[in-house]
Amino acid sequence: MTVLQSKNIKTGNWLANLMAYTEDEYLQISEIQHFAYCPRQWAIAYMEQQWQENVRTIEGKALHEKAHDDTLKEKRKDTIIVRGMPVASRELGICGICDIVEFIANKRGVNIPAYEGTYQVVPVEYKRGKPKVGEEDILQLTVQAICLEEMLVTEIPYGYLYYGEIRRRTKVEFGEEFRQHIRDMLQQMREYYRRQHTPIVKKRKGCANCSVKDLCISKLNKQKSVAQYITRRIKE
Ligand code: SF4
Repeated sequence: MTVLQSKNIKTGNWLANLMAYTEDEYLQISEIQHFAYCPRQWAIAYMEQQWQENVRTIEGKALHEKAHDDTLKEKRKDTIIVRGMPVASRELGICGICDIVEFIANKRGVNIPAYEGTYQVVPVEYKRGKPKVGEEDILQLTVQAICLEEMLVTEIPYGYLYYGEIRRRTKVEFGEEFRQHIRDMLQQMREYYRRQHTPIVKKRKGCANCSVKDLCISKLNKQKSVAQYITRRIKE
């Protein structure tokens, strides 16, 4: 089974034509938010493929399922809403699923098959909780926009993050700073994959709610005891 298949990503025919990266080299969009939050969490969850479900991830999944259910497409006035849309970027070598993509009637937009007129493309990502201090959600939405821009040959200046706790959308503008940050992170992630290296990082406030906390600590303790053993043997 290829990595892409094991990632259980819905693919369209167009994805088979993406050859700039091989299937095994494609990363998942969801990896971005974990890497931005903590590179060690990303490495444990994705590179080592270990994952612990805690209340936070279960709640997050429930909210995502809500975004992904019902019919895949619906039209409300001047907006077509598409749920669970598979996207990919050949340039970045990344693929995944957008919670919701809104196509809003706009003279300067793009054509959508089976619909008349042109539409502005606006990605919307659902999140549990409230807006975060960190940029991980913004970066995840930005990479979705980059994929959509490449697929639909259009420019996407903004999108929205919907937060379950405050039940409101927050507008996100896709600046060059975020786009470059994504390119840098993808390069770092590929380098960690190449070396199969799980980075060691300093503890942070968010460690208490981290979904791989127990794995992270037990691995650190093992590394410490190996280091202590080697130091002891050198001294002997
Ligand atoms: S417990 Fe803290 S350091 Fe360890 S993976 Fe989670 S966020 Fe990173």
